[in-house]
Amino acid sequence: MKKGIGASKGYAIGYAFIKKDEEVKIEERIIENIDEELARLKAATDATRAQLEKIKDKAEKEMGAEKAAVFESHMMLLDDPEFTGAIEMNVSNNKVNAEKALNDVLDMYIAIFGSMEDEYMKERIADVKDVGARILKNLAGVDTEGLASVGENTIVIAHDLTPSDTAQLDRNKVVAFLTNIGGRTSHSAIMARTLEIPAVVGLGTITEDVKNGDLLIVDGNTGDVIINPDETVVKEYEAKKEAFLKEKEELKKLIDVKVKTKSGKRIEVCGNIGKPEDVDAVMANGADGVGLFRTEFLYMDRDDMPSEEEQYEAYKYVAEKVGEKLGIVRTLDIGGDKKLSYLPLPEEENPFLGYRAIRLCLDRKDIFKVQLRAILRGSAHGNLAIMFPMISSLEEFFQAKEVLAECMAELKAEGKAYNENIKTGIMVEIPAAAVMADEFAKHVDFFSIGTNDLIQYTLAADRMNEKISYLYNPMHPAVLRLIKMTIDAAHKEGKFCGMCGEMAGDERATAKLVEMGLDEFSMSASSILGAKKIIMDCE
Ligand code: PEP
Ligand code: MG
Repeated sequence: MKKGIGASKGYAIGYAFIKKDEEVKIEERIIENIDEELARLKAATDATRAQLEKIKDKAEKEMGAEKAAVFESHMMLLDDPEFTGAIEMNVSNNKVNAEKALNDVLDMYIAIFGSMEDEYMKERIADVKDVGARILKNLAGVDTEGLASVGENTIVIAHDLTPSDTAQLDRNKVVAFLTNIGGRTSHSAIMARTLEIPAVVGLGTITEDVKNGDLLIVDGNTGDVIINPDETVVKEYEAKKEAFLKEKEELKKLIDVKVKTKSGKRIEVCGNIGKPEDVDAVMANGADGVGLFRTEFLYMDRDDMPSEEEQYEAYKYVAEKVGEKLGIVRTLDIGGDKKLSYLPLPEEENPFLGYRAIRLCLDRKDIFKVQLRAILRGSAHGNLAIMFPMISSLEEFFQAKEVLAECMAELKAEGKAYNENIKTGIMVEIPAAAVMADEFAKHVDFFSIGTNDLIQYTLAADRMNEKISYLYNPMHPAVLRLIKMTIDAAHKEGKFCGMCGEMAGDERATAKLVEMGLDEFSMSASSILGAKKIIMDCE
């Protein structure tokens, strides 16, 4: 048995197919005719573009536009004059063949991306390599469509699967895939989850541990891979697989169900989103609304602040999708571990205890007001609510409401529509807010407990630090007491109390939270149906 990282849930029993990485050997040649070499390069990039177009169409049909966008980005790289121009220049200036010129540029891109701190940018190395390998194969005239023709019940095994490999997998025949490298956030893992093909990544040497045709069992939940199992083990996993599929089908019945506990208490199950489009998956999974829109993502990965107009479009999109249901928009929570390249902040000894979220917004009203105006305008299109993060005192809440009132007055004078009765609430994620919840409850419309931060501040255990992760315990009695205090305080004033930290989607905590009286759970789209089921079984 081998153990890796379960990247996409589910079970598979099938036969190994090892995808050979037909490395194209790169020979360096000095060329005589530069124009001829440039024409060769152009023919190969044109062929690459045509292939990518085809793969993109297939991916769009099978996985949707969002997932197909990766091929769009591959094509953009092909059309990027900095990329292709650098290769051409290398050919012209150094009189080297197209393969060598391309390889130099690839190495440069890989070195740049590899040196970045950002995990996301690191993952983009796979994209650059994918495009590069495809051009190289076209230069060499090698067949690039290997994976498309595998037999039934195939488990594809590769060192790594590129996005275009993943898109070519025939869903009717490929029942799982395994890779030596990769993590949960790599493209292949994300696509596996979208295709709902079980996958285990980061297995180290799986390409060497198995032979073509070996019988394999893949457990995408635990990351276990069993090589040539005996019959009893196969039977055991056949049963597991059947139960898993049955449960998945069963859960779909809950999409339109508004869940209640056995004693009849209605509980809302909502989704957390980072980008406006995420609301689609959340609603498709039967959410009762959006419990947390982390708006800082609108500000990240760009070179300047998003304008009021841009933000308005984003909030309007979410408002229209939630409609009558509630969409809670959290105001900018930047600082701590989330930084903006265009908003330099002073270095801090303890950024998590520093200048962030509401503290920054109250100090930088220019930034804060642009966002509040945009959210207010979005509220004309659906049931949006506003939530302030990192609130530690009532004064902060009152000040934030004052700025909000200013924005409302401005919009009114400008004749722009917004919901005058928009609800305002706070994240309870600083222990002080939980302890003083009875006071806060008199003034806010709702609470949402941010356990990610609440736990780290209560237990003085950095949520990012692996070394002390054993201390970071959602079920610590001190954490549970603060949660209970917050819920009770809300109810005493007739307000509702939700939770949007990771604990809300943790199946081990659901029953306890229901018992404590939590009104709303907000979590990632894929956890919603499972949570609904558990809630229905609670008293
Ligand atoms: C939280 O702290 O629980 C939370 C939901 O916010 P974030 O994870 O964005 O800090
Ligand atoms: Mg937080």
